[in-house]
Amino acid sequence: MYLNVYCPRLGFYIYKNFMLTSKLSFWQCEGKRMMLYFSKLIGDNEMSQKIDTNRRVVLAERPNGLPNKNTLKLEVSEVPTSGMGEMLLQTSYLSLDPYMRGRMNDTKSYAEPVKLGEVMTGQVVAKVISTKCDGFDKGDYVLASSGWQDYALSDGVGVRNLGNSPDNPSWFLGILGMPGYTAYAGLLQIGKPKPGETVVVAAASGPVGATVGQIARIKGCRVVGIAGGADKCAHVVENLGFDACIDHRAEDFSEQLKAACPKGVDVYFENVGGKVLYAVLPLLNAFARMPVCGVVSWYNLSGLPEGPDFGPAIMGTILRMKVKVEGFIIFDSFPQSLFKDFIRDMSEWLASGKIHYKEQVVEGLENAPAALNDLLVGDSFGKIVVKV
Ligand code: NDP
Repeated sequence: MYLNVYCPRLGFYIYKNFMLTSKLSFWQCEGKRMMLYFSKLIGDNEMSQKIDTNRRVVLAERPNGLPNKNTLKLEVSEVPTSGMGEMLLQTSYLSLDPYMRGRMNDTKSYAEPVKLGEVMTGQVVAKVISTKCDGFDKGDYVLASSGWQDYALSDGVGVRNLGNSPDNPSWFLGILGMPGYTAYAGLLQIGKPKPGETVVVAAASGPVGATVGQIARIKGCRVVGIAGGADKCAHVVENLGFDACIDHRAEDFSEQLKAACPKGVDVYFENVGGKVLYAVLPLLNAFARMPVCGVVSWYNLSGLPEGPDFGPAIMGTILRMKVKVEGFIIFDSFPQSLFKDFIRDMSEWLASGKIHYKEQVVEGLENAPAALNDLLVGDSFGKIVVKV
C-alpha cells in the first residue's frame, strides 16, 4: 500500500512504499502521516516551539483499541498570560507513559479521564518563563503535570522545583521520577525480595521493569527479565545485569521461561498481563508475591480477550500457592516519606554505577501521538520522553 507523506521542509509529498503487515502498523504509519500532515495545515514554522504561540495536543475522540489519527488533535492557541500567584511554564520535556491510554477512556478508574477537547494529560519538565508565584524564580526548572503543550500557567501547587541547572532534567520523568519510584516502591514494599529468591519482570527494558530488575539484583536475587525481541533482551542482560532475559515473542517462550527459573518464581512483578502472566502462573512458588503494577498488553482491549478463560487458573494458583497479590497506584499506595528514601537510594545507585538508565528522546511535540503508540505496542526502547 502507498501512503503520501508530506515533507514540510522540502515542501512536497514523498511517496513511500510502506509494507503494512498488520492493523497496528497501519495506524502507526497513519498516525505519523497525520502528524506530518498537520505540519502542512498549520505551516512548518508553527511546528517548532515558538514564543508567541502555544501548540496543544487535545483529546479529540475516544479511541476504540489503539489510538488512531482521529484520537489526538494538534491545535495552536495564544500563549497565556500569568496573573498574581501564577507562573508561566515553557515545556522542555514531556513524559510518555502507558497510563495515558487509560485516561482516554471514559471509565471508572483511580483518576478522572481526560475530557474531549482537553489538553492530553502528562508530566513535564518545564522552565519558569515569568513568575508571580512564591518559591519559584525565573529560569528554574520544575516538574509539573501541565500536559501535552508548549506553555502552561501554574499556581505552583503540586509542582516540584528542580532548581535552575539540574543535571539531566529529563531523568526526573524517569529513573528519578514516577517510573523509578514505581519500581522501587512496588518491588520493595510489596514484592519484598529476599537474597537468593527468583524475581521475574516483563517490559524489562522499559523504565519500570529495568529498574525493578536492577534493584532486585542489588538485593541479591536471581533476576529474569522478559522483553520483546533480541536487541532488548541483549540490553537487559549485557547492560542491566539481569541473569537472563526471555523474548516473549519466541514460539517456545513458556519453556524458555521455565528453564530460566529452575527454582520457580518468588516475586512476579506484573507489568503486562496476557500470555506473560499465564506463563508465569505455573512457576509461582508457595508464598510468592505479585505486585500488580500494570497490564499494558490489555490497555487497548475494547472487550474481553479471545481464547480460553484463565480465571480459574489464576484464582486457583493464588489459593493453592498462597500467593500475595496486591495492586498499587504509585502516589496513592505508599507513605510520602518513602519518596525521600527512594531519592536517597536511587541517587546513590546511579552515582555508583549500580543502576543504568536508558532513555529514548523523541524530537517535537507533533511526534508525540505516534511515539505513544510505539510505546503501547512495544516499539519504544527505554524511557520515552519528547523534547518539546
Ligand atoms: P514501558 O516503557 O516498558 O512500555 C510498555 C512495554 O510493555 C512495551 O515497551 C513492551 O515492551 C511491553 N508490552 C507491550 N505490549 C505487550 C504485550 N502484549 N506483551 C508483553 N509485553 C508488552 O512502560 P513503563 O515502564 O512506563 O510501565 C510498565 C508498566 O508499569 C505499565 O503497565 C504501566 O502502566 C505500569 N505503571 C504503573 C504504575 C502504577 O502506579 N501502578 C506507575 C507507572 C507505570 P517489550 O517490547 O519489551 O515487550
